Amino acid sequence: MTDKSKGMFGGETNPSNIIPKKYTLDSKIKFRCHPGVSCFTACCGNINIILTPFDILRLRRFLNMTADEFLLRFTTPIFIEKTDMPGVKIHLDENGRCPFVTDEGCTIYAERPSACRYYPIGMANFHEGGEEGVESEQFFFVVKEDHCKGHEEDTDWTIGEWRADQGVDECDEMNKEWLELVMRRKSFGHQASLSDQAKKVFFMVSTDLDKFKELVFNSSFLDTYDVDQSILDEIQKDDIALLKFSYKYLASSLFGTNDIKIKPEKIKESSKKIKAKQSEKEAGAEDTYKELLKDRDDLIESHEKAGIRKKK
Ligand code: SF4
Ligand code: SF4
Repeated sequence: MTDKSKGMFGGETNPSNIIPKKYTLDSKIKFRCHPGVSCFTACCGNINIILTPFDILRLRRFLNMTADEFLLRFTTPIFIEKTDMPGVKIHLDENGRCPFVTDEGCTIYAERPSACRYYPIGMANFHEGGEEGVESEQFFFVVKEDHCKGHEEDTDWTIGEWRADQGVDECDEMNKEWLELVMRRKSFGHQASLSDQAKKVFFMVSTDLDKFKELVFNSSFLDTYDVDQSILDEIQKDDIALLKFSYKYLASSLFGTNDIKIKPEKIKESSKKIKAKQSEKEAGAEDTYKELLKDRDDLIESHEKAGIRKKK
């Protein structure tokens, strides 16, 4: 196995393994991966499999685990490739193999992560300058590595057919908003920088929907945010709705979008606090000025007493 970098976006793939051609959904490829290929499961080791929040949700439901249990047992924290955003990848075993692979293949195949479904078709999405309103160019590319014998199989597909077969469209739809947060594309701007505290919130919300649900329903969250009862009812019972809501919360709280509105009284309260702080600072500055004046007067007086300076 030579590929050490089957990244989520195809970004870490060795460029020399990418066929230099732009593919569309209608482009034809020859590829088939099945238990009969000589390389079967060769690509399930020595790789970074970054998990999206949707991957984590699907996997832990399939394995019947809480988010906490799943994260502890099967993942390692990382910074997501080419970003400074925290996330998790699958924790490989002592032989560098994915914990879900056996000689018979992937034991979680129906729920396998997005990165495993995309391979060997990557998707590029260029945003010129990363600005809002600027058209992005989207195309596909094919990764062809020596060890992967699937390219020698005689099955024809269009890229669109391959992606439908792999269930990639659903992943794209569920991952899109989160990827935009990770890449800070479009509305957030490439240069938006986050504090360590904000990154911790991003990590918690992106990896542990149980904790996010706790935050929404068992903290002062609803004193601050204005959320319709119909949305609350939906996210209470539907994890996918909760997941989508979590993206909106991240966009609002970290990047200041208006996806979830802050209650007007909270805005008033915090603007009062800001004003109070400003007045405190102004009062502090006045006190300092008065102290300086007093120090100066004391100095003048002591000089006068010592005869260094004449009284006026
Ligand atoms: S999750 Fe399945 S397909 Fe993906 S690396 Fe592990 S065993 Fe292979
Ligand atoms: S054909 Fe390619 S994708 Fe399939 S098991 Fe072999 S290396 Fe992995």
